[in-house]
Amino acid sequence: MRKPFIVANWKMHKTVQESADFVKAIKDHLPDPEKVEVGIAGQAFALYSMHEAAAKSGLRIIAQNAAPQLSGPFTGEISMRGLSQAGVSHVMLGHIERRRLFNETNEAVHQKVETAIMTGLTPIICTDETMVQREMNGEIHYVLKQLQSVLHGVSLDQIRDIIISYEPSWAVGVGQRANTALAEEGCRQIRRMIADIYTYEIADKIRILYGGSVNPKNIQEIMAKPDIDGVLIGRASLDVDNFLAMVNYQ
Ligand code: PGA
Repeated sequence: MRKPFIVANWKMHKTVQESADFVKAIKDHLPDPEKVEVGIAGQAFALYSMHEAAAKSGLRIIAQNAAPQLSGPFTGEISMRGLSQAGVSHVMLGHIERRRLFNETNEAVHQKVETAIMTGLTPIICTDETMVQREMNGEIHYVLKQLQSVLHGVSLDQIRDIIISYEPSWAVGVGQRANTALAEEGCRQIRRMIADIYTYEIADKIRILYGGSVNPKNIQEIMAKPDIDGVLIGRASLDVDNFLAMVNYQ
């Protein structure tokens, strides 16, 4: 059984104080961590305070991005080694906004995945596609190509703990109701590809998240899909009550 993983992606929202206060407000109302895993991807400067505020609640503290290099003269970048010592357990890599707005390439995401593995952070590898790309032949070739290059060289042992997310661009940040059938189909095709590259056993264990306009009204329907193991939530995760409603969807 794959444990559901509900992840808030706060993007460029919330100060240190607001982030820590949010964590304090939710930490005693989270679902049993044995049954549902919950994480928040906050802004880098707030992660350590969030980690302290989360004390023993099981809440995962997640970085939204980090540098591919281990350390060195890279002014303004954030090291994964530093993040892992600041209580961060996961790092999102290649989010659609990183790719579209900051020209992040598959090669860059690939290097970041390798660094994450080296520093003990669990990568959440994000994939995306546009409606045009999807409609070309009904298959998610663009996503599969992204994944193929990003996972190049990732071994059978290393892939086990990696998390993948599927975010169709037409559903991200628009607030439109997510089309659950397309979401499920995207995640199903990703799982099939993992089986092709690795093994059925790994494809069966790996967790695949869906992201794009998830909210308290549609989360149950989304989470009921067999190949969707969790969600990445942007806008709807910024409010305490909404977030608690979603993590306690069961
Ligand atoms: P959204 O964002 O929930 O606001 O669509 C999702 C994401 O970007 O991860």
